[in-house]
Amino acid sequence: MVISMKKWMSILIVLILCVFMTGPAVLAQEDDCAAGHHRDILMERVEPLETTDGFERFRCEVCGREVTIVLFATVCNWEPWIIEREPDCTEPGLRRRTCTTAMPHNEYREIPALGHDYEVTVYSSSCQEDGLRIYECARCGDIYTAIYEEASGHTFGAWQEEMPASAGTEGLEARVCSDCGEREERPIAALAIAGRWFDHFNTVDIVAGAASISFAALFAVFLAPLAVTVGKEKAAFKNFLKRQETADREDRKYDFG
Ligand SMILES: [Zn+2]
Ligand SMILES: [Zn+2]
Ligand SMILES: [Zn+2]
Ligand SMILES: [Zn+2]
Repeated sequence: MVISMKKWMSILIVLILCVFMTGPAVLAQEDDCAAGHHRDILMERVEPLETTDGFERFRCEVCGREVTIVLFATVCNWEPWIIEREPDCTEPGLRRRTCTTAMPHNEYREIPALGHDYEVTVYSSSCQEDGLRIYECARCGDIYTAIYEEASGHTFGAWQEEMPASAGTEGLEARVCSDCGEREERPIAALAIAGRWFDHFNTVDIVAGAASISFAALFAVFLAPLAVTVGKEKAAFKNFLKRQETADREDRKYDFG
């Protein structure tokens, strides 16, 4: 700090000398001196002591305006640091201290940002949920999530029949995850309806535009009359046997009579 002040002072003096020696140059653009720029001459210099500031007094040889520049004490009398602005998680803070020499001056220092103060909550993974670590800053609430393990997916056992399918009615089978108990169901296709002849009778294929008569219908049309004929023949034969039997009986009656 002390060194930087001295450096600053020497730069200033060099610049002033430049102006003095070269005339209109780089400094003092607000000047209203008749010469365009002041031509300062060092009139007086008091050396700074360890805890006492010195000074240099300049006088413009053209217009007579005087300038005094403080030469800070070589050893400062610093007061304790004062916090100007507290740092937070991401923004640095600022502190200041004041030197109490004849010409008080301040020094500023940045206070580094604190960084987040994360608290971690761990959520373990399951069949459907990823394993998570949630980081939340206790100071500012900044939050982010990291996946440390992906969801495993269900571990289903084999399908188990719970209700068998029957003719015309769907059945039900289910399987269960051995890890979490998640249950899945699916229907078992209904069985075909057997023995109901009218379901096959006069089936009309509307889409194809053609009528298709099933085997059952054919049976009804062609075989049923045949069956009736066979039945009639059977009845006639039965009658014939009956008559024959009666005749036999008559004969026996005659023999024993
Ligand atoms: Zn001047
Ligand atoms: Zn000082
Ligand atoms: Zn934070
Ligand atoms: Zn599961």
